[in-house]
Amino acid sequence: MSNEFADERADLAAVLRWAAREGMQEAAGNHCSLSVSENGNQFLINPDGKYFSNLKASDLLLINLDEHTSTQQANLSAWLLHGQILQRVESAKCVLHLHPKYATVLATLLDSTIYPVDQVSMRFYNRVATDSEYSGMIVDQTEADRLCDVLRDKNILMMGNHGVTVVAPSVALAFDELYHLERACETLVTAYTTGKELKIVSSDVANRTAQDWQDFIYSAELHFAELRKKLNREEADYCR
Ligand SMILES: [Zn+2]
Repeated sequence: MSNEFADERADLAAVLRWAAREGMQEAAGNHCSLSVSENGNQFLINPDGKYFSNLKASDLLLINLDEHTSTQQANLSAWLLHGQILQRVESAKCVLHLHPKYATVLATLLDSTIYPVDQVSMRFYNRVATDSEYSGMIVDQTEADRLCDVLRDKNILMMGNHGVTVVAPSVALAFDELYHLERACETLVTAYTTGKELKIVSSDVANRTAQDWQDFIYSAELHFAELRKKLNREEADYCR
């Protein structure tokens, strides 16, 4: 394997392995990417048709959009969407696109708002963009452009009738956001199944708690370090 971007490869492979443990991959699909250039035109992405749980750092494709390197081997929808976000969204270094169970269930509802009903869901108050115009798989630049326009200054995109995309300046933060997003959706979906009325907190409380989460954002690095420790102990081949 090329040692080029070895650290970035290991980081992204760790996220893929852990997403598999969380049951977040759908079959052998879904894609996660990490930019390795300032302008986002070069990035690592998982190859199509492989279980996250089998992937190693050396399996990740290095795409160069300017030279069309590896685009033939990568999933078309994936490199169009990831490439567009990594190039257009200033803070985007890592993009995770998945169909986790509860976030996807929420995305099937007419109203997929993550209401502030517990401390975790409050983390996402006013931080989520929602796309409600699903029209099929991404097969051209136009759809990738459109989704990027919907995302705008947010870093989480609830993709109606589809799944979620999380964008962050680091792998650790992207995964931490994804993890908590799925937990928030699980709580909300479970609350809906009781048939009882939701107890939604005031916007003041939700805003304050969302800000508290931002002040606590260093915990994303601690979370990532812990999962790396466990992976290093139990499935260290992800780094190869
Ligand atoms: Zn998808």
